[in-house]
Amino acid sequence: MVSLSDVQKAQKELKGIIHQTPVLTSALLDAKSGNRIHLKSEHLQKTGSFKLRGAANAVIHAVREGARLVTAASSGNHGQAVAYIAAELGIPAIIVVPEDANRVKVAAIKAYNGEVVYCGTTSAERIPRAIQLAEENNGFYVPPYDHPHIIAGQGTVGLELLDQVPEADTLVVPVGGGGLIAGILTAVKAVKPHLRVIAAEPEIANDTYLSLAANRITAIQGTETIADGLRTSQPGDLTFPILQEHLDGIVLVSEDEIKEAFQFMVERTKQLIEPSSAVAIAAILSGKFEAAGKNIAAILSGGNVDLRQLEQFLPTLPES
Ligand SMILES: *Cc1c(COP(=O)(O)O)cnc(C)c1O
Repeated sequence: MVSLSDVQKAQKELKGIIHQTPVLTSALLDAKSGNRIHLKSEHLQKTGSFKLRGAANAVIHAVREGARLVTAASSGNHGQAVAYIAAELGIPAIIVVPEDANRVKVAAIKAYNGEVVYCGTTSAERIPRAIQLAEENNGFYVPPYDHPHIIAGQGTVGLELLDQVPEADTLVVPVGGGGLIAGILTAVKAVKPHLRVIAAEPEIANDTYLSLAANRITAIQGTETIADGLRTSQPGDLTFPILQEHLDGIVLVSEDEIKEAFQFMVERTKQLIEPSSAVAIAAILSGKFEAAGKNIAAILSGGNVDLRQLEQFLPTLPES
């Protein structure tokens, strides 16, 4: 179980390690949505995503308990976050990535002094390898979302928001494995039970939606959503019950809606977010939940993109 006090402890641990990220606003976005939108800008977090919060909290605890090395199985934001915090704390990190990993992402891990190990093409191959490498080296395997210290670390986004945007009545949070939203729910529902929290998920990666509907963890087959931070196949054993207890709603958005939101954010607000963050904006603009005249805070969860891929993230031009 994770509680508000765990999130508050994480906030103390993370002081001086993470940025308190700014909350941005956009008159254009307000006009387009008919609401006041507050953008919690974790794309401006160190390493380019909120993942550093959970990873740092988990690695700080592991080092205190004697870990001499950390491992992770992720070529994405979690891998970068684990590599970064390990270097900051002066221990090595081994990051297990797929054989076909994006070279830009691998270069980012190496830039944070992470050691990269290639293994297979599926997480079912990578995770056991990362766990094994941790066991062999007196180390700690850092999971991406399903761990109390990860959930507590991610929840610090919620505590910051309560301070920065006290007038918010609704939060919209992208959901992958659910560490971010479970942490935020743990924090904000303990302080402000009536603050509405809505999850945003891609239609073609709707494992959390299906799980909530079925009242049990339900897996999906591999998905190719452009929101690559949300490609997890199922919610976590620890995160899912927190969503079941506290979540107020979940909105599914199409790939086209994600692309339109991405284009709007980059062109109009000048914020280089990644498609996973655009999912939250797409949910707000979709009109799929009742929202008129509200103060809505959206979590811009990350901003790591391979610039060569930008075109894939844009809507196709209408024929003239
Ligand atoms: C990991 C990630 C998410 C999803 O977070 P979960 O804790 O897995 O739900 C959303 N956006 C970005 C940018 C991410 O890296």
